[in-house]
Amino acid sequence: MVRTVLVLGGTAEARRLAEALAEAGDRLRVVTSLAGRVSRPHLPPGEVRIGGFDGVEGLTAWLREERVDAVVDATHPFAARVTASAAAATSALGLPFLVLRRPGWRQAEEDDWRWVGSVAEAAELLPTVGTRALLTVGRQELEPFTRLSDVWLLARSIEQPNVPIEAVLGRGPFAVESELELLDDHDIDVLVTKDSGGDDAKLVAARRRNIPVVIVRRPPSPAVMIVSTVDQAAIWVIYGHATVS
Ligand code: NAP
Repeated sequence: MVRTVLVLGGTAEARRLAEALAEAGDRLRVVTSLAGRVSRPHLPPGEVRIGGFDGVEGLTAWLREERVDAVVDATHPFAARVTASAAAATSALGLPFLVLRRPGWRQAEEDDWRWVGSVAEAAELLPTVGTRALLTVGRQELEPFTRLSDVWLLARSIEQPNVPIEAVLGRGPFAVESELELLDDHDIDVLVTKDSGGDDAKLVAARRRNIPVVIVRRPPSPAVMIVSTVDQAAIWVIYGHATVS
């Protein structure tokens, strides 16, 4: 019997999970769902659907219609709404649900990190920390910074932001050397980022240049099973949602 797994994607981990599951044979139907935030996404193997489900009700209906047997949420650590929807929909249907989240970043002793609870708080704190900021918070989160007049801003994003902030475009992972160059070329004296985890080249570069980092804490995760590696998630799917350790 073919089992259907929905992978909520948009991350490198989700893509790698779909690749691992594609190798597990044809008894598994893997559908990856993308939010549609970037115009040319890196597509995983298997089926792909793009766009929101229309909240918990829409997702519940979709899971039922597609006869989904299990859901893995491998979305970005800051994509809290879709995670909450998936937790509610799978709970309503009694479906196995796993969250795959890469670990957050670890602060080194020499790091000067200022933790804040939201991007808005980061914008509020920024003028007290530096005067030339590199913003790596995602192009859709830049609006609170547009109100700042005493800080020169440079955003880095995959696609052009739709706010009047100078931007350099790029998709990670990045090399430490090129991150150092970016900081040096623009005389950056503060980095603003979210605790996304994964590629940490910009944090290594900030450490080397003794630049403080304003860092947004992750939203809380739902009280469900969470793993941090693609292998653990693949085992959970392939071997029937047994406990993984
Ligand atoms: P979100 O706030 O959790 O999602 C908002 C809505 O987008 C969800 O309610 C859902 O719409 C839809 N959605 C999100 N992920 C989806 C998926 N994989 N498949 C289908 N629909 C999906 O997340 P967000 O607005 O995308 O992003 C929030 C933060 O995460 C931002 O800071 C962003 O920078 C960061 N981020 C997100 C992604 C991503 O791929 N989502 C990637 C990188 C960074 P419905 O309610 O209509 O179902």
